[in-house]
Amino acid sequence: AKDYGTNGYRFYTAEMNDAVIQKLVLEEWMNKALEQDEFVLYFQPQVDIFDHRLNGMEALLRWNHPRLGVISPGDFIPLAEETGLIIPIGKWVLRTACMQNKAWQLEGFPPLKMAVNISPVQFYQDDFVQVVLEALQESGLEPQYLELEITEGIAMYQLDQVVDKLNTLRELGVHISIDDFGTGFSSLNYLKKFPIDKLKIAQQFVRDVTDDPDDAAIVQAIMAMAQSLNLNVIAEGVETEDQLSFLLDVKCREIQGYIYSKPVPADEFYDLLKRNMVA
Ligand code: C2E
Ligand code: CA
Ligand code: CA
Repeated sequence: AKDYGTNGYRFYTAEMNDAVIQKLVLEEWMNKALEQDEFVLYFQPQVDIFDHRLNGMEALLRWNHPRLGVISPGDFIPLAEETGLIIPIGKWVLRTACMQNKAWQLEGFPPLKMAVNISPVQFYQDDFVQVVLEALQESGLEPQYLELEITEGIAMYQLDQVVDKLNTLRELGVHISIDDFGTGFSSLNYLKKFPIDKLKIAQQFVRDVTDDPDDAAIVQAIMAMAQSLNLNVIAEGVETEDQLSFLLDVKCREIQGYIYSKPVPADEFYDLLKRNMVA
C-alpha cells in the first residue's frame, strides 16, 4: 500500500498511513505555522459596479508551508476549528488585516473597508469583542473600515449573547455582513434580531444565475429582502460578463469575483490600489 505519490495536498507517506496520523501531523505543523510565520493574507477587491469604484477588500488566509506550498483555507480551517487553533490564527488574521488596511491608508490611498472572515468558534469566545478592539487599537484602524463576515449558523446557539456581541461591535462602528447568505440556516428569524449591514450572496447561487431560473429567483428574492430590510448586498464568485449584467439588472450594486481579480498578495493589491486612484 505504498504508491502514495505527492499529488496536490495528499502528503501521505508510509508513516502517515492513516487518517488519524495525518491529522495529528497536520495539527503539529499548524501549531508551528504561526510562530514560523507561515500564514499570509491575500486580498480580493470588492467593487461597486454602479460607480466602478473599489469599495473594499476581503482578507483570505493562505498557509505557505515550506514543503507543501500554498495550502488553501478549505484544507486546514476545519481542523483548526476542531482543535481550537483557529483562535490564535483568527487573532493573527484580525490584527494583520487591520494593520495592512491602516498601512495602505497611511500610504495615502482613500480609506476602504477590510472584510475579515470570522469562524463561529472564534466568535463564541467570551473575549471576542475584546480581541477585535485590540486589533483596532494596535493598528490604529478606525472601526468603520473593518467589516466582520460571519455565517448564519452563528444564530444556532446562544442567540442572546450573539446579539449582544453584535450590538457591541456595531456600536463601536464595526460593520457586519452575513457570508454565504442562504446556504446555512433554515430559519430567517435571526435577520430581525441581528444588527447587520450586508448580505453576501453565496457563490453557489451566482454560478448558474443566467442558466438556472431557480438560482435567478433566489438572487432576486435576496435582493428584494435586502431592500425591504435596508441591507446592502454583495454577490461573490462573479466570473462572467453574463453574471455581471444579470446582477446589474437586479440592482446588486457590489460584487466580488475573478471577473475583477482573484485574491492576491499585499504587494499585488497595492498595484491594484494605485490603478484605482487613477481610474
Ligand atoms: P469565503 O469566505 O466564502 O470566501 C470566498 C472564496 O471564494 C475564497 O476562497 C475565494 O478565493 C473564492 N473566490 C472568490 N472569487 C471567486 C470566483 O470568482 N470564482 C471562484 N470559483 N472562487 C472565487 P478561499 O480563499 O479558498 O477561502 C475559502 C473559505 O475559507 C472562505 O470562503 C472562508 O470560509 C474560509 N476562510 C478564508 N480565510 C479565512 C480566515 O481568515 N478565517 C476564517 N475563519 N475562514 C477563512
Ligand atoms: Ca467570506
Ligand atoms: Ca462566502
